[in-house]
Amino acid sequence: DMSGKTAVITGSNSGIGLGIARELARAGADVVLNSFTDNKEDHELAQEIADEHGVSARYIQADMSKGDDARALIEKSGRCDILINNAGIQHVAPIDEFPTAKWDAIIAINLSSAFHTTAAALPMMRKAGWGRVINIASAHGLTASPYKSAYIAAKHGIVGMTKTVALETAQEPITANAICPGYVLTPLVESQIPDTMREYDMSREDVIKNVMLKRQPSKEFATTEQMGGTVAFLCSPAADQITGTTISVDGGWTAL
Ligand code: NAD
Repeated sequence: DMSGKTAVITGSNSGIGLGIARELARAGADVVLNSFTDNKEDHELAQEIADEHGVSARYIQADMSKGDDARALIEKSGRCDILINNAGIQHVAPIDEFPTAKWDAIIAINLSSAFHTTAAALPMMRKAGWGRVINIASAHGLTASPYKSAYIAAKHGIVGMTKTVALETAQEPITANAICPGYVLTPLVESQIPDTMREYDMSREDVIKNVMLKRQPSKEFATTEQMGGTVAFLCSPAADQITGTTISVDGGWTAL
């Protein structure tokens, strides 16, 4: 039961972040949703979660490409017992053609934002006497693929930072860990299926098994609910001594 705890989830108006927010709200936590937009739908999403689970749910606009915004998100949240650094973007290009602006944006959103939010949240966790820092890395935080230099640098970077945060909080009731998902079926991924079917002239099943899940031995997507469940486990007393490590939820990708 997570009642009385506040979870701040960066990049949570869709996909994995939203799945984690829903799971934590289901477990009784108050949640703060975030993205860089400030649309009516963003605030309605928070209201929907509040109504469904009887918790407090707020949407706070903050652009994770900006350090000041990342820190302001935590300050505006007022408290932060559970910090989920999830906001992330991708760009695919060979390194000698990789746009510098894309490199900078990916490092800022996927890595530096977690530095800023963690720096702002740790004093709140110390004051509350309990805390969880959970970084959503990737199988690409542990292995590489071509054409994803910035993403892979950022994801390896956040795995490293996770270990440092764990050491700096090792003797406190605070843990820091990273979840490394394989391919997760988010709306973003789902929307790529029809185009890929046309491109390769393949059935939906073949696109999923032989293109998207080529490196995922289970041949099944991980789900946003499973990400939420893994977060809930890391917030449970069973995980009090789990710190400074990664948990892969990747259908065997990193075992290959
Ligand atoms: P998504 O695009 O659905 O979600 C990304 C979220 O980040 C969105 O809510 C988006 O609004 C937000 N965001 C983007 N730029 C932002 C910014 N500047 N400021 C604040 N928020 C911003 O994608 P997703 O698949 O749910 O990805 C979530 C995280 O999971 C990312 O860090 C991604 O790298 C990681 N991940 C995803 C997969 C996958 O297969 N989907 C696999 C491994 C890791």
